[in-house]
Amino acid sequence: MNRSNPFELGPIRPVDEAGSLLIRTTRGCPWNKCDFCVNYKGMPFSIRKMEEIRADIEAAAQYYNGRAFDSCFLQDGDSFIMKTSDLLEVLKLLKQHFPTLTRISSYGRAQTMTTKSLEEMKEICNAGLNTLYCGMESGSDIVLKNIHKGTTAKELIHSGSMAKDSGMVISEFIILGLGGQKLWKEHALETARVLNEINPDFIRILTIGVKKGSGLEKQLAEGSYTLQTETNLIEEQRLLIEHLDGITSYYKNHHGVDLLMEARGQLPEDKEKLLAIMDRYLNLSKEERNIYTLGKRTGLYNCLDDMDNKDLRVQVEEKLAEIQKLYPGQLDEVFHYLREQVV
Ligand code: SF4
Repeated sequence: MNRSNPFELGPIRPVDEAGSLLIRTTRGCPWNKCDFCVNYKGMPFSIRKMEEIRADIEAAAQYYNGRAFDSCFLQDGDSFIMKTSDLLEVLKLLKQHFPTLTRISSYGRAQTMTTKSLEEMKEICNAGLNTLYCGMESGSDIVLKNIHKGTTAKELIHSGSMAKDSGMVISEFIILGLGGQKLWKEHALETARVLNEINPDFIRILTIGVKKGSGLEKQLAEGSYTLQTETNLIEEQRLLIEHLDGITSYYKNHHGVDLLMEARGQLPEDKEKLLAIMDRYLNLSKEERNIYTLGKRTGLYNCLDDMDNKDLRVQVEEKLAEIQKLYPGQLDEVFHYLREQVV
């Protein structure tokens, strides 16, 4: 809670929820052990009391004074850990105070959702929580174990399929590079296999940036995890897309950390278009790939077409020459440093 918002807010929300009403149902994450994640580091997990949530919804209704929100995101890490009856009560209150809401969303952990029955999930969906963001990250059991995700591919398939069957719109987040150099093929192929089983509505791509203070930073220092280069990451993404079959998901590079933001489209019809975008980058000369990558990582470029802009190109080339002089032979490390700043 702060002076401008008379109700409590959590630290994060998905990119697509920028304009949504935010209501906090839990604090932190009940797991909080994934090696790549520092979102809730040091924050003890708790389920907020119903009285607190009710008071926040009422305070938000007063604060926004009739604003017609069409979407609401329930913060923080896993609203499904609430008792189903409490969650249903929250959804009822939200609908009462914000009658224009058509979409209510939340993060949900696979392990938590597998404790609910399909009937409960249907009841939750019918009460308004109709959009689920699931941090799948990888479909590989080896990668999931290495990063201490606390879930298995089987649980991911079960929870994702159940959420879909309940009527929810589901997004699966995938992290490129999570398998490192050793497991990139396994990561891409197993992730494609699990996605093919679930057929989520959205596949949302994120690219790894190893955060300071994370478990993955430790693995990197010890040498048990090794970073993919930018080119490797696109090869990995190409392999993933190539093996997505029989599904009707919308595939989306959706975060500023993703190198090829233009790689988004409806499967299966846009699969060739997505692969062509990967190939366009991979077929550039090494020097051109460095120019594009630096332009994107420094915010000068948004997409490959921006390389045709002569003014921007001069600026990127100057930066590249400067970096190569200051950090000879360390371009991959510089690119990773720049990625880590935006995740
Ligand atoms: S990635 Fe999700 S489940 Fe893992 S620690 Fe972070 S918030 Fe929790």
